[in-house]
Parts: sequence; C-alpha cells; structure tokens
Amino acid sequence: LNISEFDLANTLERITKLLENDFESRNIQFALKCEKNLLIKADSELLEQVIINLLKNAIEAVEHTNEPSISVKASKKQTQTEIIISDNGSGISKEQLDKIFVPFFTTKKKGSGIGLSFAKKVMRLHNGGIKFYSNTNDGTSFTLKF
Ligand code: ADP
Ligand code: MG
Repeated sequence: LNISEFDLANTLERITKLLENDFESRNIQFALKCEKNLLIKADSELLEQVIINLLKNAIEAVEHTNEPSISVKASKKQTQTEIIISDNGSGISKEQLDKIFVPFFTTKKKGSGIGLSFAKKVMRLHNGGIKFYSNTNDGTSFTLKF
C-alpha cells in the first residue's frame, strides 16, 4: 500500500477525462460533484483503479437505458470521506445481490468478475468500506467510505 495525501477533486477530474469519450459516444449524461481541494489519504493508484472499475460497470449497466445517466459525488464530513457512484441502469437482480463481490462472479458475456472483488479488497486495505444500493427500476449506486 502506497499511501499519500492528494486532492480527490483532481483525481476525479482526471478519471472523468479518461472516460469522456465513452460518455459522449453513448449519450450518457455525466455529472461530477466534488468540492475543490478535497484532501484524502489513500493509495492513489489503487483508488483510481477502483473508481474506473465502478464507472465501467456503470457504463455497461446503462447500455439499454433510455436516458442514461451516471454521477460521481464526493464529500468529506469531519474525518470521513465518501465517494458515491450512481447509475440509472439495469440494476442488480435479487438473486445476484449477495454474489457480486465474489471473485470471478459475472453476469456478462465477456466479464471477468474481478472488478468488485478487487474494489472490496482495496477498501479493506484502507480500513474503509464499500456498500451498494440497487434495484431493477432505478439503477445502482456504490458508496466508498474512507
Ligand atoms: P464484471 O464487470 O467483469 O462482470 P464486476 O466484479 O465488476 O465484474 O461485477 C460483477 C457483477 O456485478 C457484474 O457482472 C454485474 O452483474 C454486477 N454489477 C456490478 N456493477 C453493476 C452496476 N453498476 N449495475 C448493475 N450490475 C452491476
Ligand atoms: Mg466490472
């Protein structure tokens, strides 16, 4: 683990730029909400990879959504930092809710099933957590807590 202090707003803007083309070509409404200079202590490379994984899942989840939208919101309350990644996509069916963090579990033709188990591991290494809310009407949101 390579912990340093950095500005989460910068990181989120950089990730957004990386995925900008995907959002535009699929007509996905994307919103980023993060105050400037939101300092966080974490392994920046691992955290970046986790957020990219979650956003890629979100992009795949909105594939058949009429007005696809994805948002990232980051906030800091006292010592706790929260990052919420939401989509209005397919949602996760009841039968799959308890399986999504299992390594290699995937519902996709060409999925690896690595993304979420990696995310959980990374959050555990940071003494943080990952939670999600999902239903097949409104979509899914994942919350990372540090
Ligand atoms: P993969 O993306 O390769 O399938 P992941 O570990 O990233 O592997 O995700 C595991 C499974 O969790 C996915 O196959 C999908 O069924 C479900 N999932 C993850 N994120 C979302 C999401 N945002 N919306 C709907 N389902 C999701
Ligand atoms: Mg994935």
